[in-house]
This record gives sequence, structure tokens and C-alpha cells, in this order.
Amino acid sequence: MIGMLMASVCGAALALGVLGANGRVVLVWDRVVGAPAAIVVEMPGAETGPPCPLDARYVDEPPDRLPQPTLAAWQRLRSAAGADGVRLCLNDGKRSREQQARQFAEAVQEFGSAGLASRYVLQPDESMHVVGIAVDIQPLASAGWVERNGRALGWCRRYENEPWHFEYDPAYVTAGCPALLPSATGS
Ligand SMILES: [Zn+2]
Repeated sequence: MIGMLMASVCGAALALGVLGANGRVVLVWDRVVGAPAAIVVEMPGAETGPPCPLDARYVDEPPDRLPQPTLAAWQRLRSAAGADGVRLCLNDGKRSREQQARQFAEAVQEFGSAGLASRYVLQPDESMHVVGIAVDIQPLASAGWVERNGRALGWCRRYENEPWHFEYDPAYVTAGCPALLPSATGS
């Protein structure tokens, strides 16, 4: 149920069209090695992309707005999957703070209050999509391949309720994936 809600929220956000810059620069923790956080968090990702060839309910966004370490890791992951005959679609990747705030505002409308919305959608300072280390991979069969094989390339699933959401951290290669959390929002 929560998964379906998240998917619908993401889908709604993808259809918003081009967003303007909000002009704010807010420092957050720097999880992206070598990239100033204040610039990374303001960098918008693609709003949408061509339909995923495997399942037209999803899109395959251009990944080029991912920060460089994540982009290179994404390309290695997609190549490894392709060598195994698996196609990965990037249903959602980079978001700016403004794009994430839009998703949150959509969720407030959908669920009726900020309190309820915060159970399903993160605020900009909390989202790893804003930090630039997260990707949402579809369809779920492809995400399953990443869950089984991604760790060797630094990609781990993080949440029980989001089988499509993976985060990149080179430390996962040697340390292994952290235990799954129930959800990104803690609810
Ligand atoms: Zn995600």
C-alpha cells in the first residue's frame, strides 16, 4: 500500500513540467565526494524521460544530472546488468531541493496535511535523491537484479517499503549493505 502511494506520488511529480530555480542555497551534509553540497542540492534532475521499454508505466530518465561519482557508478551498474541480460530503467534519479519540495507539496494535497504527507515523502533536506546518491529503478524485476548484484558496485537497497530505491556508497563494496530500514520516513 505504501509502495503504491509512493509510486503515485513520484508519477505525479514527474508530470509537473519544467521548474524554475528558487535561488536558495542551503548547505547540507556532503555525501558526494568532491562535489560542493550547496551546488549539488540545487541541481535539478530530469522531470521525465522516454517510456521504459520493459514497462510503459515507468520512464527511463537521462541520468546526466546525477553528480559525477553517482553517474559513473550508475553507468557501471547498468553495464553489469546489461551483460546479464537485464535492462535497468531510471524511473527517478536526481532531484533538486525545489523538485523534492514540489513532491512534498503534492503529497500534502493528496493526503490532506503535512503531518500525513511526511509519512510518505521526505522533506528536501532528508532526501538522498537531493543529495544525489539515490536512484529509483524499475521495473521491479530489474530492481531485484540490483538487490542481488548491486553491492559489488556500491549499490544497496535501503528500505523495506521501497524495493526500487537504491543508494550508492563505495563503502558498501567492502562493508556490505546496511540492514534494511522499514521506510525512508521512519513511519
Ligand atoms: Zn527513491
